[in-house]
Amino acid sequence: MAKTGSKLRARGRLWRAGRAKQPDSHVDGAQAGAELGADVLDALLSSMQSGLLIEDASGRIRRINTVLLRDLRLDGTPEDVASAGMRDVDQAFRAYAVDADEVLGRAEQLREAAVAARGEIIHFADGRVLERDYAPLERDGQITGHLWHYRDVTERVDEARELERQNENLKQLDRTKDEFVALVSHELRTPLTSILGYLEIGFPERDELPDIQREALDTVGRNADRLLRLVNDLLFVAQLDAGRLSIQPGTLDLAAIVSESVEGQRARAEAKGVAVLADTSMPCRISGDTERLAQLVDNLVSNAIKFTPSGGAVTVRLRNQLDDVVLEVRDTGIGIDAAEQNRLFERFFRATSATTRKIPGTGLGLAIVRAIIDAHAGSVEVTSEEGVGSTFRVTLPAISDDGSTFQVPEWEESDSVEQRLDGIVKGAGR
Ligand code: ADP
Repeated sequence: MAKTGSKLRARGRLWRAGRAKQPDSHVDGAQAGAELGADVLDALLSSMQSGLLIEDASGRIRRINTVLLRDLRLDGTPEDVASAGMRDVDQAFRAYAVDADEVLGRAEQLREAAVAARGEIIHFADGRVLERDYAPLERDGQITGHLWHYRDVTERVDEARELERQNENLKQLDRTKDEFVALVSHELRTPLTSILGYLEIGFPERDELPDIQREALDTVGRNADRLLRLVNDLLFVAQLDAGRLSIQPGTLDLAAIVSESVEGQRARAEAKGVAVLADTSMPCRISGDTERLAQLVDNLVSNAIKFTPSGGAVTVRLRNQLDDVVLEVRDTGIGIDAAEQNRLFERFFRATSATTRKIPGTGLGLAIVRAIIDAHAGSVEVTSEEGVGSTFRVTLPAISDDGSTFQVPEWEESDSVEQRLDGIVKGAGR
């Protein structure tokens, strides 16, 4: 304590030395210290970029800076305004604040409670926004005054509003896009299915048609098929985004699905000069959605055929491995550049080896494969070498001994695709 006292006295002397000659006493030292404090406070107030007001306990203004006068559109000097007590300040709030009663009422509450508060927002009718902090001033347990700090945060609030507006617009745009894709896909499917239906039924005279007409019909069929696949892919992605990807799990034998997919595509492969070898002799029981899994296998097998030139081969193997079922689709095709392999499952991504050869495609097939695998709590890996071939290896959980199936979780409209897939994976309990 003694040390502190001597320090104070020393400071007092120093201050006096720099000013007028004053009698050397403790009282004068304290007064000099207070004056110095007041000078520092004034300097701080006038150099601040935000508004500050200090009231004493009886409601008189002890300090108000010019920034606050400007923000409250008050004319005159700080001294003029201060001489009117809080009257002019309160009037300014009444004139400009959107909800003046609330602003002044809240100020009264804070004074009475004498509890610090931060970040209270005050909207002005002209669009400006001030942020207010409050701190009670106290000495020896007594409230001696109130400190109010006002910051003009109009720019920040406007920016936040603008961001929010843009965000909402983007969301709306995204919803519109999803709805549009879903609608168009749906509307396209009906006529396409009808075209394909008629082509499939065929007609008795077909074989008697001249070659050129038969070929034309085949071309119509092939293109309608391609369109339908594209439409189905778009519909799938739209459903995934809208959280409407329905997975209906049931116990099934993946070998049957793989075998059906391979046989369905064999003719096309052979017509192209690509041999297809399939080993699906072992039953592989898993829990899953038949239609989705067929789509997964179709996409992998059709890619393998599509990206393998004439003279090559596609080998499809399915086996049980510990708790899993492993599907391997291997080809001796064009392969994929190592640097691009980690992007294969992104939507609309197409590798250079495919685009430079102008092999048609949309880049949606593998994104769909990934979504279906995730929805079945599985995984996929790719090994590929350009000019040598590719292998896609899918691992799916084999059905447990008790035959239990996984639950497909529900998701919120606001969940991202990743969150939904994450939910599915967790829901599968693997
Ligand atoms: P698409 O086949 O419609 O182009 P996918 O999403 O099925 O789209 O595949 C994305 C890309 O991955 C393909 O464009 C191709 O570059 C590459 N790819 C997929 N499968 C193979 C494969 N078996 N061999 C070589 N490249 C492949």
